[in-house]
Amino acid sequence: MTQFQTKLLIGGEWVDGVDGGTIRVENPYNGETLANIAEATAADVDLAVAAAQAAFPAWAALPAHERGRLLLKLADAIEADTANLARLEALDTGHPIRDCLGLDVPRTVLCYRYFGGMADKLEGSVIPVDAGFLNYVEREPIGVVGAIVPWNFPLMFTSWKMGPALAAGNTIVIKPSEITPLSTLRIGELMLQVGIPAGVVNIVTGYGHTVGAAIAEHPGIGKVAFTGSTATGRSIVKASAGNLKKVQLELGGKGPNIVFADADIRAAVNGSAFAIFHNQGQACIAGSRLMLHEDIADGFLEQFVALAKSIRLGDPLDLQTEMGPLTSRLHQERVLSFVDVAKGEGGEVIAGGSRPNGFETGCFVEPTIVRAKPGDRVAQEEVFGPFVTVLTFKTDEEALAIANSTDYGLGAGLWTRDIGRAHRFAKKIHAGMVWINCYKRVHPASPFGGVGQSGYGREMGFEAMREYTVPKSVWINVDAQIPPFYRR
Ligand code: NAD
Repeated sequence: MTQFQTKLLIGGEWVDGVDGGTIRVENPYNGETLANIAEATAADVDLAVAAAQAAFPAWAALPAHERGRLLLKLADAIEADTANLARLEALDTGHPIRDCLGLDVPRTVLCYRYFGGMADKLEGSVIPVDAGFLNYVEREPIGVVGAIVPWNFPLMFTSWKMGPALAAGNTIVIKPSEITPLSTLRIGELMLQVGIPAGVVNIVTGYGHTVGAAIAEHPGIGKVAFTGSTATGRSIVKASAGNLKKVQLELGGKGPNIVFADADIRAAVNGSAFAIFHNQGQACIAGSRLMLHEDIADGFLEQFVALAKSIRLGDPLDLQTEMGPLTSRLHQERVLSFVDVAKGEGGEVIAGGSRPNGFETGCFVEPTIVRAKPGDRVAQEEVFGPFVTVLTFKTDEEALAIANSTDYGLGAGLWTRDIGRAHRFAKKIHAGMVWINCYKRVHPASPFGGVGQSGYGREMGFEAMREYTVPKSVWINVDAQIPPFYRR
């Protein structure tokens, strides 16, 4: 257990929580204790905010290329620590290690590199106003940013927030999920190792209703960047009202993944399996509503079910494993409860639907495929597991109506060879991201986020630099004729 960092990072020191409590962190594959981490409370959030406030002036004043250099050094340090970080993420979350090695860690490195390079590229603008005046707009950092992160992609999601926030000159108080805090704590160690100054990043591990709520309402925090459920997002908006802090929300989704009759079926079958089963379906952008044109539905499902049944479940640390356990016991129960919901609504379970045999100690759920109707709960609510709801359609109009029939609007996929149809749907679909003949592509240069109940604000790309800065408009009277009504 000693191999993991377990304390809070406040003002550059690793410390216990003021109240001295701890939280047990469990391995979802075998139920063993991985670590007992410090349980922060609101008092620790106060200390972390004070440390971040103290560090802010010097960090914001640092030449932007210096901040960038430190982020690039961090990216190198994470890359050098790949084997360790991948193992840690696999143990803590249940992600198969092949994904941690091939996706989670490399994407985290790419993100810090992208924003390291971005730090000194943030430019202001000159606005064409009235003759005789010069008006320019600078972008300034906000101050202390509070970041609250869920358990499904801890390494990546912390980088999506810390990369742009730090590049723009903000300091941070970050709370990882109490279920998966270990990789964030390791990143904290690497940050100190590469010379990111004390207090620039502070990590408070603890529960949402205590530490998360304290961050959301703290008067010393200028912005909260949140990724998590829509219900928690709403409570954060309410808590933020006290000091009118800026809020950015990356919330849930119920991604439509639409396969038209003219699609390359083999590619669509593979892509649709990745869309829902990657990371055990625990992804906000998962293609959890598989919408099939009725002419190809039966043939498609035959291949899709065969592929789902062939997915290798196993120990996340085994390189052969394609699907690990869900990240917690509670979540396993929640996902399985949707199988009963589906049956109660007259849905047909065509694959999976149970705990797999031979994996009783882990939080596993079989890859599950359910046929349902568009208005059913399993076609409207986020399950957040290896659970895909199959719907069929006859016409493009019907497909669009079904795709846009939930309150969410995060990611959407289309599989077609008709370029006109692809563009028409991309325009009309209610979503922040659309993938055509692919699914779930993300890159630090491309804006990520949703509309409707999936939240607001964008992570990554130039958009993220705007999110983590505020514009300041400066007017200079260069040679202006003062209007006659102005008495000198
Ligand atoms: P959650 O909302 O329960 O928790 C997310 C984080 O918020 C955790 O750190 C938690 O401790 C904290 N939290 C809980 N209650 C809080 C409160 N009252 N005040 C402040 N913080 C609080 O979500 P989860 O179960 O950890 O994650 C799954 C959800 O996250 C899913 O709905 C998923 O769609 C969503 N998600 C969205 C995105 C996106 O980018 N849109 C990405 C990943 C996950």
